[in-house]
Amino acid sequence: MSVQTLPSQVEQSREIVSYDPATGEELGRATLCSPEAVKQAVNRARTAQLAWAALSFRQRARIILRARKLMLSERDEIARLVSRETGKPAAEAVSMEIVPTLDAMHYFAHASENLLRPQKIDIGQYGMMGRSSRIVFKPLGVIGIISPWNFPLATPADEVVMALMAGNAVVLKPSELTPLIALKIGELFSRAGLPEGLLEIVTGDGTTGAALIDARVDKIMFTGSVATGKRVAEAAAKYLTPVVLELGGKDPMIVLEDADLANAARGAVWGAFANAGQACASVERCYVQEAIAPRFIEQVVAETKALKQGVGTDEAVDIGAMSNERQLRIVAEQVNDAQQHGARVLTGGQRAANLKGLFYEPTILTGVDHRMAIMRDETFGPVLPVMTFKTDDEAVELANDSVYGLTASVWTRNIARGRRIAERIEAGTVMVNEVVYTHGIAQTPWGGVKDSGYGRTHGRMGLLELVSPRHIHVNRLSFLPDLWWFRYSRQAGRLFGGLARRFTTGSLLHTSLLLPQIIRRLFGRR
Ligand code: NAD
Repeated sequence: MSVQTLPSQVEQSREIVSYDPATGEELGRATLCSPEAVKQAVNRARTAQLAWAALSFRQRARIILRARKLMLSERDEIARLVSRETGKPAAEAVSMEIVPTLDAMHYFAHASENLLRPQKIDIGQYGMMGRSSRIVFKPLGVIGIISPWNFPLATPADEVVMALMAGNAVVLKPSELTPLIALKIGELFSRAGLPEGLLEIVTGDGTTGAALIDARVDKIMFTGSVATGKRVAEAAAKYLTPVVLELGGKDPMIVLEDADLANAARGAVWGAFANAGQACASVERCYVQEAIAPRFIEQVVAETKALKQGVGTDEAVDIGAMSNERQLRIVAEQVNDAQQHGARVLTGGQRAANLKGLFYEPTILTGVDHRMAIMRDETFGPVLPVMTFKTDDEAVELANDSVYGLTASVWTRNIARGRRIAERIEAGTVMVNEVVYTHGIAQTPWGGVKDSGYGRTHGRMGLLELVSPRHIHVNRLSFLPDLWWFRYSRQAGRLFGGLARRFTTGSLLHTSLLLPQIIRRLFGRR
């Protein structure tokens, strides 16, 4: 298959050029930041963070909400930019990027104070001894965010909001394919009154990302491929910089025979083809129970054939261009490979002949199996391979037969059965009768298991990634020594033995039997 060549995204100069993948038109240029420029950005962020951390949650929230207001009022213009720089339909730029970002801004502006409120810990019998423990949450300092091109607004913006609300400064390194959207995020916050230095955008390629790690930020929030994630974790380990890795997926969808067939088919088609299949949580493997497979596949093919593909700024378009040529080539290679190994193409299976840019037709495959790359490797494109299964156990086995574990879905009218299967699937998120979208829920954690990464973003768990928990322990009985302090003696040894037998049971009653010995040690001869 011949693949149209767009100009090289990273040119020789110290600039990156942004192109519209649907038309090949140049959209603008951005600086390819040098390691020195990155270091300076981190220094500016570090200085600015000190005053920011001293502000109250309410003061920080005021600026986030002002940025939210600007994003809301300029949403059409922003959606157009997102659509042009990525190729996705403008409708999706709103529904899958702007809406979730506005929601996250609202949620974290209002909820962070509560989510990060100091926490009292129940310390059992130590509490009876006048002790208490609390956890307080301190900002980490400067958070380095390294983000991909597929959700260039929502992915970094949500993390920017969370990091800022937690009292940190941010240095954001966006994908080299989508620098203009990142600069727009920076501009919105700046116009909202965010003090200078708190959100630095360092545009550039992988070298700029590597420089951000070398600039010794306090945490890296990385979203991208497994291969780059491993390089990032290795580089960060040199400085013991903690990393959250949000990596790829090969997400399975299980359709049980008691599913609502029509809705499951619609869900499969949206889950596989939204964003031209370039979502980490896209449905990349569909397993349908044998009895309903023919009807399900027929509906999926009919839904797919009805989709309109074209330039994303056209309001009636369902599937836009793919964002880059490399990804399109991977998709074409995987589909060709599957066909050579016996897969059947029910619709699609090629580059869209009537469109000029990076368009690949939405594709449904059957006759696939787990020896094929299309069922093993991340495709990240508009392809839905469908297999059948007989039993629930088989479905779970197939779903778990992957190195990835980001999201999965189970479709059934029997919610208890759905939950049971969901809990057996190895994935960070498993949805029942839902697909892809929980990245858009600000309150719920997002992240994977296995090669899909570690750590979490979003929700309380995500916010906790952006703070340092500090344990504060207080002894109110400041006049009393501890039982286990010096001096040691035979009686002390006996008491320690008693503590081992009784105190460690957690039972006050058991421990009270030691009271005479305890009183002797505290107030008598030690
Ligand atoms: P990528 O790994 O090629 O690039 C991601 C980012 O890392 C880019 O900003 C890139 O410039 C930067 N980078 C490259 N080399 C680097 C290095 N050595 N050090 C530091 N940074 C470096 O990924 P991509 O192609 O932009 O994005 C697609 C991938 O992202 C897919 O695998 C997809 O599944 C994954 N993804 C995951 C999630 C998730 O939440 N789990 C979300 C979106 C995308």
